[in-house]
Amino acid sequence: LEPLYSFMIRVRVPGGVASPAQWITMDNLADKYGMPTLKLTTRQAFELHGILKHNLKPTIKEINESLMDSIAACGDVNRNVMCTVNPYTSNIHDDVQRVALAVSEHLTPKTKAYYKIWVNDEQVAGPVEDITEEPIYGKTYLPRKFKITFAIPPYNDTDVYAHDIGLIAIEENGKLAGFNFTAGGGMGMTFGDENTFPRLGNLLGYAPVDKAVDVCEKLLTIQRDYGNRENRKLSRFKYTIEREGLDFVKTELNKRLGYDLEPAKPYTFTTNGDSYGWVKGANGNWFNTLYIEGGRVKDTEQFQLRKGLRAIAEILEGGDFRLTGNQNIVIGNVSEALKPKVQELLVQHGLEAHQDVTPLHQHSIACVALNLCPLANAEGERYLPSLITKIHAILEKYGIPDQPITIRMTGCPNGCGRPYLGEIGFVGRAPGKYNFYLGASFNGDRMNVLHKEALSEEEILAELDPLIAQYAAERTPNEHFGDFLVRKEIIKHNYSKADFHLV
Ligand code: SF4
Repeated sequence: LEPLYSFMIRVRVPGGVASPAQWITMDNLADKYGMPTLKLTTRQAFELHGILKHNLKPTIKEINESLMDSIAACGDVNRNVMCTVNPYTSNIHDDVQRVALAVSEHLTPKTKAYYKIWVNDEQVAGPVEDITEEPIYGKTYLPRKFKITFAIPPYNDTDVYAHDIGLIAIEENGKLAGFNFTAGGGMGMTFGDENTFPRLGNLLGYAPVDKAVDVCEKLLTIQRDYGNRENRKLSRFKYTIEREGLDFVKTELNKRLGYDLEPAKPYTFTTNGDSYGWVKGANGNWFNTLYIEGGRVKDTEQFQLRKGLRAIAEILEGGDFRLTGNQNIVIGNVSEALKPKVQELLVQHGLEAHQDVTPLHQHSIACVALNLCPLANAEGERYLPSLITKIHAILEKYGIPDQPITIRMTGCPNGCGRPYLGEIGFVGRAPGKYNFYLGASFNGDRMNVLHKEALSEEEILAELDPLIAQYAAERTPNEHFGDFLVRKEIIKHNYSKADFHLV
């Protein structure tokens, strides 16, 4: 008798925007085949958990029928392409989204193998011809997964430096002019192996908007051709850049492009978090960013998040659902006429009450971890909210309850919740024990460093108490916690990979 295997299916949402019909499909599938919840991931994808093996095929078939898929949601190819989703950021938002979709489409695997295996060749979305070879990936695909994201300054809400390629939108005269490119970011590492480390992407230069797809393709092919295929732990693009050197990658890129990237253009990021509440977009429609604790859309006695978002999806004509890089949701493109009805449903189902959390909760990310991720050493999304409540009590004690601090927790060092970019980061070592990281920036351009290893909750709170007391007393106006710790040299920060592991 075969064990009762159950699986997670990750459904990619290129650019992070899903239609109400797609939301309803995911909601239906969660009930029909999985746990009755939806996980919104840190890379703007849906996850369905608890899919029994014999239900994999019907689930993927129904996902396909809703014009979504799980192609490249995993595997050694370019993964879900992320993009800032909230159009309050600027008038160029729609244009950046279009480029993100073009990059996603260009780098999606082209063969129909996925459809043959999972949907009996009944293809709704994806390539039309029966392509048998991958034009970009070739026979051996990439050495490892590959991640691309877009950000629109001043918002770094997709953590542009944490990805293999980052595209930073540059606006000139109210129009999208082009992108600054970063390369070589990645969060994963392995405990006990100092050859592995999280790394932020390097700024390579600028190219106009019509070159974006080309630059992404050429960078990806450099990794395809030079990435480490012998040791998967050292096979991400970041290690290729460390090994071959940034100059080599730049030269190779320019050679493959046939032109040189221009010098990077100036830009500023202020935050890598989300801003919450209703805002009016440039197109006159409304957008409401909602905090979703741990990215877990579920119904509890207090908050009917799933039922509420489902009810909104059913009336959201012309609107959409936008998954943010911080595991939250934007109800998008709500017409003036529909806004009161949507607001009523938010109140009715407790979604409005669910927003009543501290700034620390609002700036937190937690991965799935125990009990759903087989790689987890410790709790993530089920535990972080209660720990944050205790940390917030320390902030209250020292008179700074409204101070936002980014806090990120993962159950293992793989870094799905980008813990090395939290001003406070926790990475699970064992049940109830976390490596404790401090000193990242508030805008995602500086990683934290390991401060103490394998701390219990009691030890974490005891470590934080005097640091927060000192921060409250000695910070400069508008100084963020991570910056303060670095300025005071409480955290000795530098960018050397070797020093990342020092305690
Ligand atoms: Fe990712 Fe590790 Fe969290 Fe699992 S426990 S979701 S692998 S970071």
